[in-house]
Amino acid sequence: MKEKNITTKLIHAGENALAKKIAAGVSVPKVLPIYMSSVFSFDDVPTLDAVYAGDAFGYIYGRNGNPNQAAVAECLAVAEKTDDALMFGSGMAAITTCILASVSAGDHIVSSPVLYGGVYDFLKNEMPRFGVEVTFVEFDDIEEIKAAIKPNTKLLYTETIVNPTMNIYDLDAVAALAHEHGCILAVDNTFATSFVCRPMEHGADIVLYSTTKYLGGHSDIVGGAIVSDQATINKLRHAHAVYGGQMGPMECWLLCRSLRTLEMRVAKHSENALKVAEFLEKHPKIEKVYYPGLASSKYKALGDKLFINGRFGGMMSADIAGGEEGASRFIAACETIKFVPSLAGVSTTLSYPAKTSHRAYNAEELKAAGISMGTIRFSIGLEDPDDIIAEFDAALAEV
Ligand SMILES: *Cc1c(COP(=O)(O)O)cnc(C)c1O
Repeated sequence: MKEKNITTKLIHAGENALAKKIAAGVSVPKVLPIYMSSVFSFDDVPTLDAVYAGDAFGYIYGRNGNPNQAAVAECLAVAEKTDDALMFGSGMAAITTCILASVSAGDHIVSSPVLYGGVYDFLKNEMPRFGVEVTFVEFDDIEEIKAAIKPNTKLLYTETIVNPTMNIYDLDAVAALAHEHGCILAVDNTFATSFVCRPMEHGADIVLYSTTKYLGGHSDIVGGAIVSDQATINKLRHAHAVYGGQMGPMECWLLCRSLRTLEMRVAKHSENALKVAEFLEKHPKIEKVYYPGLASSKYKALGDKLFINGRFGGMMSADIAGGEEGASRFIAACETIKFVPSLAGVSTTLSYPAKTSHRAYNAEELKAAGISMGTIRFSIGLEDPDDIIAEFDAALAEV
């Protein structure tokens, strides 16, 4: 064949032939590189057929998976002590894909009532449009859940540590009830992480994550995951591909890096949070502290049963004296601790549930959820705990 023109040569230089040479090399990268390729190439049709049929190993197209998704899924499965995971572009993409794939028109879902705002919105306002009925009941009371289950109930849905009131539920009992009635139990474990609680060890079928939070842990990536056993993940794989909410290779790579230190971070977040909760509990300008790790919490004993190594995570809430005015002054008086409508980064941050995560709740729903205009949510970071406490002490003096 005649030598190609420079324009054409430049299109192909350093591409497929080099990729093959690298793959066949005797050394491999110490760290899995970022596979920024939306698609993979094949030498012929039979090879492509073999990959589609599962007879040969290879990747096809980014929406069906890529090596960085496989790497991060492996890390999450290890942390959760299960088999596999599917990676999504956000926590909401993971959760909505899981729910949509688990129910059909005419089915029924039973959910705990206080949820991450976006999920509550999805269950309350989106699901009925698809002919799926949702009942919200307090998961503190197993009898209430039992009474809500109907012959067409397919899914029980809850969170390990509820946002923002930090309730925890008896997952073993909820899972047993779900299975007795042929339902699956899906648990959003975002606030806990697999180093505070592994819901599957307590009977849950599916664990959901916003990896934007502790798993990413540095406030720089948005993502989500479904974690479960191999059979369940294989069933959900089709929905993952056709609904298309994939996590990109760059985010996967960053998330892998974060997961190496997840246990150490969560241990420190938990240790700092307990110190801050004990400080706030004694402060005269604080009306109530919501942290299940406090000896005074009604959830402490249950947490001791469900949680790992006495860790209760880094999230807590507190009612500041003076309602909206008190909360507003407290937020403004904090110096380095920022008002951020998210959570779980390395630095301590504050959120105001009534105006951010739970905006979708009306006044009545807020009251029922135990959220007041004085409720502030704290995401306790990895700073020296004495500095966090000193800053809160100074800010409370302004309330
Ligand atoms: C943030 C969050 C979500 C939603 O995740 P995104 O990554 O923001 O889409 C779901 N559940 C909980 C508990 C969360 O904190």
